[in-house]
Amino acid sequence: MDAIVVGGGMAGLCAAVELKKLGADVKLFDAGAGASLAAAGMLAPVHELEYTEIDLLRTGLAARDFYPLWLDALDIKADAVGLDFSGALEVAVDARELPELKRHFDFQRNAGLKVEWLEASGLREIEPALGPDVCAGVFAPDEGRVDPRLLLQQIKSRVGYAVQRRIVSVEPAANGVKITDEAGRFHYSQYLLLATGIGIPAFCSGFSPTEPVPGLDVAGTPKIFPVRGEMVSVGGGVLKTTVRIRSKRFGRGYVVPHPERTIIGSTSEERGRDLSPTFGGLSDVMQRAYCAVPALYDLPVTEIWTGLRPATLSRKPVVEKIAPRVFVFNGLYRHGILLAPYLAVQVAKTMADDANR
Ligand SMILES: Cc1cc2nc3c(=O)[nH]c(=O)nc-3n(C[C@H](O)[C@H](O)[C@H](O)COP(=O)(O)OP(=O)(O)OC[C@H]3O[C@@H](n4cnc5c(N)ncnc54)[C@H](O)[C@@H]3O)c2cc1C
Repeated sequence: MDAIVVGGGMAGLCAAVELKKLGADVKLFDAGAGASLAAAGMLAPVHELEYTEIDLLRTGLAARDFYPLWLDALDIKADAVGLDFSGALEVAVDARELPELKRHFDFQRNAGLKVEWLEASGLREIEPALGPDVCAGVFAPDEGRVDPRLLLQQIKSRVGYAVQRRIVSVEPAANGVKITDEAGRFHYSQYLLLATGIGIPAFCSGFSPTEPVPGLDVAGTPKIFPVRGEMVSVGGGVLKTTVRIRSKRFGRGYVVPHPERTIIGSTSEERGRDLSPTFGGLSDVMQRAYCAVPALYDLPVTEIWTGLRPATLSRKPVVEKIAPRVFVFNGLYRHGILLAPYLAVQVAKTMADDANR
C-alpha cells in the first residue's frame, strides 16, 4: 500500500510512522506552523478531565500509558524529548477557588482516578517554588509531560519522506487519489490521510462521503473550528513539577517545565484564526502564573505565540473514512500531544485493513 499524508503535526506524523510500521510507502506534505508546535506538552488526562468530557477519559489514560512504549518502539529516548512522568499539581491561588477545586477533586476521585488533596505545606514538599498565595491543591502522581517541539523533530526524522509544501487540491484518480501541491506538482497514491488540523481541506468537498459521519458536514469536510491559545515561554527553570493554576481573577492556566524552556499558558478563546497575541490574554496568562510561582518574575521571556486547537463540536477526535481511500484524522483539540500516538495506531490499522479488503 502507498499513502500520502497531508499534515505534519502530531496527527499526521504519528499516523505516518504507524503506516510505515505496517509496511506502507508514505509521503507526507505539511504547510508548517500547526497547533502541535504551539502546545505545552502536558500528558495529563487526569487534570485535563472536564465534566462534559468523561467519554475521553479512558482513551486519555490509555494514551498516557502507551507513551513510553510507543517512544521505545521508535527508539526515541525520553531525555531527547523531555519525557517526564513525575506527576502534576493543580493549585488554587485564592480561597474563592477552593470549592470548585474540591468539586473537581471529588469528580476525579469518583471516576476512580489517582489523586491526592494537599494543603499548602504538602504541596511545597512536592514543588518548593510555589508562592504564598497557593492555598491548596491536587496532586496527580502519574501525569506526564513532553516537549512537543523536540518530539516532533524526532518523529519527523523517522517518517523519511516529509516535505514542507502546501497541498492545494485533492481529486479522485484511477485506483487512488491525485493531489496537487502549491508548486503545481501532481502526486498520486492509493490512499490519502488528511490530518490538517484547522487547515480545513475545502478542496476535499469534491469527494462524496460514503455515509454521514460524526464531525463531518454533508459535503464530507470535517467541521473543525479553531480554539485559540496564547502562550509565553521563559528561559531557565524554577519548577520541578507541572503546575496547573486556578485563579478567580485570572482564570485557569499552567506552567510546564521542559529541559530547555518553561512554557506558561494559556488562553482558550473561540475567536477565529487571528494569531495576534492580545494584551488581555497575555496579561491573564502571566499574572496567574506569577501568583502561583513568583520566582518566574526574573526569568527572561524567550517567546510569545498563539496556537489554534482543532476542535469538533462534540470535542471528540475524528477518525473517519470520508470517501473511498480517503481518511481524516482530526479534532484532537486540547489533547493532541497526548492522544495522537495512541489514536494513530488505530488510524493506520483502519487504513491497512481497508487496503487488504
Ligand atoms: C496553546 C496550546 C496548548 C496546547 N497544549 C497541549 C498540551 O499540553 N497537551 C496536549 O495533549 N495537547 C495540547 N494542545 C493541543 C494539541 O497541540 C493539538 O491537539 C494537536 O497539536 C493537533 O495536532 P494536529 O496534527 O491535528 O494539528 P496541527 O498540529 O495543527 O497540524 C496540522 C498540520 O497540517 C498542515 N496543513 C493544513 N493544511 C494543509 C495543506 N493544505 N497542505 C499541507 N499541510 C497542511 C498544517 O500546516 C499543520 O502543520 C495544545 C494546543 C494549543 C494551541
